[in-house]
Amino acid sequence: MSLRLLPQNLINKIAAGEVIERPSAVIKELLENSIDAKASNISILIREGGQKLISVSDNGSGMTPSEISLAVERHATSKLPDDNLVDIKYFGFRGEALPAIGAVSNLQIVSRTKENDSGWKIDVNGGKISLPVPSSAVQGTTVKVSNLFFATPARLKFLKSPKSEQNRIIEIFKRICIAHPEISFKLSNENKELFNVPSLSISSEDIRLQRISAILGTSFFHNTIPVIANREGFQLTGYAGLPTFNRGNSSMQYLFVNSRPVNDRILFGALKGAYQDFLASNRYAIAVLFLSAPPNMVDVNVHPTKTEVRFQNQGIVRGLIVSGVKHALSQAGHKTSTTVTDAALGAIRVASNLPNFGKPSENIPSPSSGSGPFFKNTPHGLNEGTQLLPMLDFSPSGPKAPNDPNAAPEEDQFFPLGAARCQLHETYIVAQSNNGIVIVDQHAAHERLVEERIKRDLIQGSLKSQGLLIPEIVDLTVEDCDRLLSRKEEFKELGLIIDRFGPSSLVVRETPALLGTINLAGLMQDLADDLSSYDETLTLKDKINNVSATMACHSSIRAGRRLNPDEMNSLLREMEETPYSGQCSHGRPTYIEIKLRDIERLFGRR
Ligand code: ADP
Ligand code: MG
Repeated sequence: MSLRLLPQNLINKIAAGEVIERPSAVIKELLENSIDAKASNISILIREGGQKLISVSDNGSGMTPSEISLAVERHATSKLPDDNLVDIKYFGFRGEALPAIGAVSNLQIVSRTKENDSGWKIDVNGGKISLPVPSSAVQGTTVKVSNLFFATPARLKFLKSPKSEQNRIIEIFKRICIAHPEISFKLSNENKELFNVPSLSISSEDIRLQRISAILGTSFFHNTIPVIANREGFQLTGYAGLPTFNRGNSSMQYLFVNSRPVNDRILFGALKGAYQDFLASNRYAIAVLFLSAPPNMVDVNVHPTKTEVRFQNQGIVRGLIVSGVKHALSQAGHKTSTTVTDAALGAIRVASNLPNFGKPSENIPSPSSGSGPFFKNTPHGLNEGTQLLPMLDFSPSGPKAPNDPNAAPEEDQFFPLGAARCQLHETYIVAQSNNGIVIVDQHAAHERLVEERIKRDLIQGSLKSQGLLIPEIVDLTVEDCDRLLSRKEEFKELGLIIDRFGPSSLVVRETPALLGTINLAGLMQDLADDLSSYDETLTLKDKINNVSATMACHSSIRAGRRLNPDEMNSLLREMEETPYSGQCSHGRPTYIEIKLRDIERLFGRR
């Protein structure tokens, strides 16, 4: 084995392995070069996921013929004028992208500076560099990369389908677009334009938000909260998504350090930490965050692709992200006590900010759309036989379920709402959850459960009515009576059987069984009021959310009912299985959770 220096071309191919893993990495390098060249307009054309062709044209400074020749030599850069690796103002500086790309593809650069009255062209084919020749060109640079990895067939095999390479290109493209709203970008595949975002004037106040909305859609605009926080020379700005606006993966998390899109574990971890109290662990927040760091506090040269960074003090950065985002979220959400320490109480979770139990967070099936898959889903062994609602009829003896394994949760089982410990003021159920205290408003919670059950039973056709021992006469106005009776057949489907009993009164013969004993006069009046506000052409099923909410409101266990432990646990278990049980029909939370660590904070233990 003889020791030897590797030839330049081989070194470049090795570098290519690190710097340009796939077409999207070529796009990233070329875009960064155009941005460094102060371009205000950049357009990109790709073919076959970038493998056949990537062409990037800019209107930047351009290069003279000697600069073009130098640019494709290894370690030639115009971006480290004073050998200072700490205070880096450009995106490039390693001087290896162009030679690496040239080593593994057919690379062509055409460029013209403002001073030159013609352009120049150079070709590099699998590492072989030609001499620059004159070529017609406007000011700026066009870099064409064809047949990427033709010179390294092994790499070629690692490429995914053109579609999936294109998707990666789009991901990189979006990030760079978001980081540079002052530049206009265009991206086309073959003849199809994929993106065309105009440049925005730096003076426009919400330039960033405009660009983000152009790239990520306007829903982003409506579902995010601005973030702004400072700590020891670091500044965090951007937008954090509302917890309810979440995703199943991190693809909607855009993080930038000094305008560089980064893929940094520490930063993603901090973002996860910020949402920990608001999101289930398998859900991901949506966020676009820009961290600006003093150049001497961050090293961007730890990885050839510069997508990872290293901070001198990770703690500061992590703390800034966690507290900055949490603060923004607390501003947007509920207002809690202003007396005790705001920070600690601000962390109290309100159910309306939480993912709902037992349901996917998107695509809520409407009750009229047929089956609601989650209604049938009864994990934790809460089967149809263990109905909570009959139990809450409050027969004098009280419901007993001594052998019912669902009634009292085992200590070692995991229930999001915990095990009921006591009832306070005959209104609130206090439960011990895995790492905190849950307080349930029993009236609000029960109301929600009844409402969802009416909807479910109606869909399944299993809504039962219950004949009243003595039919009840309800007095109303003539108009209200007419209104209600005109919907008599529809009410029948809902388990409510009514007949006329005179010009201004009606008789109620049967009611939905699951409502239990209710104040019928109040219910009929409210239903009549509801009807007067509905469009005549709508059926009650169209308005089932409203109708069932009104019914549920009259059925619920009011505050002031004493519940035994089985009833309390049963209520908690049913809440866990019921969609939207986190809020009552009026949008108020049905429960809150206080984490142990927040309690500790309240007591100054943390
Ligand atoms: P780096 O960007 O790290 O300097 P590159 O290999 O990407 O290394 O580019 C080498 C040099 O070529 C750059 O330093 C720059 O001077 C010049 N260059 C590359 N692309 C352009 C461009 N689009 N416009 C003007 N100059 C460019
Ligand atoms: Mg570069």
